[in-house]
Amino acid sequence: MSALRELAPAKINLGLTLGPLRDDGRHRLVTVMQPVALCDSLELVPAELGASEDQTLCPGVEGENLVDKAVAGFRAVSGWRGAPLRIEISKKIPVAAGMAGGSADAGAALRLLSRVSGIADEDVLMTVARDLGADVPGQLQPRRYLASGAGEELRALPEAAPFGVLVVPSERQLSTADVFAEADRLGLARSVAELESRQAELVGALAAGAAFAPTELLVNDLEPAAVSLAPELAWTLDEVRSAGADHALVCGSGPTVIGLFGDLDRARGAALALSGRTPAPFAVEPWYPTVMPSANSDGAASA
Ligand code: ATP
Repeated sequence: MSALRELAPAKINLGLTLGPLRDDGRHRLVTVMQPVALCDSLELVPAELGASEDQTLCPGVEGENLVDKAVAGFRAVSGWRGAPLRIEISKKIPVAAGMAGGSADAGAALRLLSRVSGIADEDVLMTVARDLGADVPGQLQPRRYLASGAGEELRALPEAAPFGVLVVPSERQLSTADVFAEADRLGLARSVAELESRQAELVGALAAGAAFAPTELLVNDLEPAAVSLAPELAWTLDEVRSAGADHALVCGSGPTVIGLFGDLDRARGAALALSGRTPAPFAVEPWYPTVMPSANSDGAASA
């Protein structure tokens, strides 16, 4: 078997509306998930001769990898009995940064497993993805989605015209669970009625392929919680606005801050203006599903 490769694009949230807790302990939410052309790359090869277990290699990430769970879940749900595999991950997406790096890798691993096993049953893949976490279903076939439920209910949105994203990573990591807990402490959740009306407004605003929704809909309800845990983010948001961003917001549960621009060149200019920061800010474009097929060495999309 020759090596199989997949790219795993990071996602940004173009706004996130937080709703109440569900019975399963997860929050209801509504968010626009936008993949961007910042990708981890995954390679699947047979495990070494004599190996009895699947292996995941992921330099830079400690502890159990979500890709291990994806492989185990895929074998359990599909019943596939193929020989042990090794998946090697080359990380480009910042870890614990609110850009769904682990979920993106799990989604890419499931695409690899589908290819190597010949099992393309969407129900199987979606069942495994849902079990892995609310962000994983949207990473099975990355594209622009309106996500609801706890993030696992997906409605495909028209892809947007190109725009630019300034990504400002942080030296610190924020646990998603801690940010949601802080949001609860601050009482940030909205009612189900507000959530549903926001969902309808977003669908309407983005139906014709606008790059982003109007300012009043482009709000991340988790932002005050992330800023409460990492107060320096308020300063970062100001810096991004001063660098000319049309919108500045915390990405997902943070601590990454993003700036949205009408085009990539303006986002690149802002990255240059903020280049004294560590880690260095950078500019990316949206990821489009039509440029999905292969990985190259620098983690950028290749047509
Ligand atoms: P999300 O927004 O989906 O909650 P995130 O983007 O903030 O997540 P990740 O980069 O997915 O965060 O990392 C969250 C935790 O998951 C890390 O602390 C890391 O230990 C663990 N993890 C497991 N597998 C991976 C992986 N393949 N890549 C990155 N982190 C992983």
